[in-house]
Amino acid sequence: MNPHTDFEEMRARLVQTLISQGVLRDDRVISAMATVPREEFVPRSQRGQAYIDAPLPIGYGQTISAPHMIAIMCQELDLKPGQKVLEIGTGSGYHAAVTAETISAGTGSLGRQVFSLEIVKELISFAEDNLRRTGYGDRVKVVETDGSLGYMEEAPFDRIYATAAPPGVPPPLIDQLKPKGILIIPVGEVGFFQELLKIVKKSPTEMTTARLGGVAFVPMRGRYGFRT
Ligand code: SAH
Repeated sequence: MNPHTDFEEMRARLVQTLISQGVLRDDRVISAMATVPREEFVPRSQRGQAYIDAPLPIGYGQTISAPHMIAIMCQELDLKPGQKVLEIGTGSGYHAAVTAETISAGTGSLGRQVFSLEIVKELISFAEDNLRRTGYGDRVKVVETDGSLGYMEEAPFDRIYATAAPPGVPPPLIDQLKPKGILIIPVGEVGFFQELLKIVKKSPTEMTTARLGGVAFVPMRGRYGFRT
């Protein structure tokens, strides 16, 4: 058996399952999840589990999110080609690769459009290596910094999302969103109820917040996170 073909089959099967469950609906996100090899973003020991719809450990107490959660977040962000996107919490780099694939699908590479912030130094080289190996190194820029402060150097962004949960929405993330921009962020206490929020910036002073349901993310650290 060719392990490469096995992973492709498992990936196709997972995508089909998520479609039949009604989770995956957007064509661009479907094609991105059918393309990005999740097995290349998990530690070697976890490769066999890469296409189970569950979070997986990536070391340093962190996890790569479950595929259905990544699908939901990418769809709720309403990602479109050409957008500039900020991710807080690079982890393995997998979610950033799916985002990059979604906004560059069919258009070829449009250069660096995804900026991904990570606070754990050791995860930076892990993510960069995963992204380079899978062909996303030129589309995702990984930066070692406290993402709860956003990323002024490249602001404003069309879309921002966080893959770690702070106790409340960090104000810099709202500030760094373009008008009509969307922020998806899990918010809540460590070990207690967290909710996934979708904030749409209608104008520089007006926002709407939708509650997308209960979730479980690792805590966000840093200035507007938990000071662990
Ligand atoms: N998107 C990732 C999921 C990683 S889990 C993936 O696809 O694998 C969340 C990540 O957020 C962890 O790597 C954690 O170290 C990081 N994180 C936590 N607080 C942060 C902060 N203030 N700034 C940047 N990254 C942070």
